[in-house]
Amino acid sequence: MPALTLAAGLKMPLRFFNTLTRSVQEFVPLDPSGSGVGMYCCGPTVYDFAHIGNWRTFVFGDLVRRYLEFKGFSVQHVMNITDIDDKIIKRVGEAKSSLREFTGKFESAFFDDLKTLGCLLPHKTPRATEHIEEITGLIEKLMSRGMAYRATDGSVYFSIEKYREAGRQYGQLVKLNFDEMRATERVRNDEYEKEAVADFALWKARAPEDGEIFWPSPWGEGRPGWHIECSAMSMKLLGSSFDLHLGGEDLMFPHHEDEIAQSEGAGGQPSGQRFVKYWLHGAHLLVEGKKMSKSLGNFFVLRDLLGKGFTGREIRFLLLQAHYRETFNFTLDGLQAAKAALMRIDECVTKLRELAGTSAANGDSALISQFSDALDDDLNISGGWGAIFDWVRENNRRLAENSMNASEAASALAMWNKVDAVLGVGAPTELDVPPEITALVEQRQAARKAKDFKRADAIRDELKSKGWVIEDTPKGPKAKQL
Ligand SMILES: [Zn+2]
Repeated sequence: MPALTLAAGLKMPLRFFNTLTRSVQEFVPLDPSGSGVGMYCCGPTVYDFAHIGNWRTFVFGDLVRRYLEFKGFSVQHVMNITDIDDKIIKRVGEAKSSLREFTGKFESAFFDDLKTLGCLLPHKTPRATEHIEEITGLIEKLMSRGMAYRATDGSVYFSIEKYREAGRQYGQLVKLNFDEMRATERVRNDEYEKEAVADFALWKARAPEDGEIFWPSPWGEGRPGWHIECSAMSMKLLGSSFDLHLGGEDLMFPHHEDEIAQSEGAGGQPSGQRFVKYWLHGAHLLVEGKKMSKSLGNFFVLRDLLGKGFTGREIRFLLLQAHYRETFNFTLDGLQAAKAALMRIDECVTKLRELAGTSAANGDSALISQFSDALDDDLNISGGWGAIFDWVRENNRRLAENSMNASEAASALAMWNKVDAVLGVGAPTELDVPPEITALVEQRQAARKAKDFKRADAIRDELKSKGWVIEDTPKGPKAKQL
């Protein structure tokens, strides 16, 4: 349900839940012209294939970008590639390969998967290892402002005490109780718990287990910490202050909290502006009702699901069912239901296309306004789907009654195309029919032409056993899933 209802005729503006203020706020970009939007999404750590929980976050980022574009904003979408961190170093050591060879494999798998899921390619996808200069430059700035120091182990740490003494708040995205915290002086790991909050590593001095993975720096050979990578790359590409920063809720602490501390600690934001104006966090994903784990057998990477016969489009559709701030239970039954729901849309769109022919649309925009009213409300996607399935039902009713004309069908299609530019689940295409099925349909057609009806029937049975039926349409036979 929309959070607010207004008198008819009054439009509510686009608004998002901002983790920084813990409230739903109107979205107003920093750009004085109101059109340009800078958006940074924490990208993959390329040490393995991204799992379905990660994909929920990336599809959410894609939805935000597409919706902003739908609203007429000109978005600059940046997604980093973390190709150096603790986990990668460990895996590279185990795999006995070079860093680039190892990360390159998972990086290209990530981009393949991104495409399979119908996500638009971000405008920039910077690699951390190609921004060491920006990273060390940022650390130097923090050192010069007294917010960072070199410890006896040779590593450089961020000083939370100095940051707080400068009147800054550490603990903006999450509440931190400094009195109850364990007295830990500093933490070298990229990931740690809230209770162990401590000075965190910006630059890690070269250790024996790092092997050949190190870079020179003013503080000696070493490598960057994970958090500083995102601060350096986001500010380089979007400026010291930008509009939107997205990520999974698991990144809120310490990763995003540390990004704020580093970026605002280094300064450079225009007066009165923050490092990031709106922080959006996507919720967790459960699989079959449980937290994903390899031992429970519910840990899926994208290729596992494709191997079970689902398409990227069906997986994307399912990931887009729940509101981004709700924990979502991803199930194989849900994927079956997604397949069926998409087929309902496809059938409707196909019929509309047949009726529309080359007619011009008549400018009806009812679906678009219902859809955007829902999504303006902190991306109320259920409301958006509700409008779409009402529209499908109404179209089907009118098509069945023969009470729709070609121009109305054309305008229904035009609306669908606009809405689908946001959802990205695509119109049905011939490509959705696997090549082996298309080949069988053609063979059956040839057999019929040759009057070999026995062979044609045998092929029809074979198609049926594979889950396909043949429908004869004015444009020739078409394969349809059972
Ligand atoms: Zn990040």
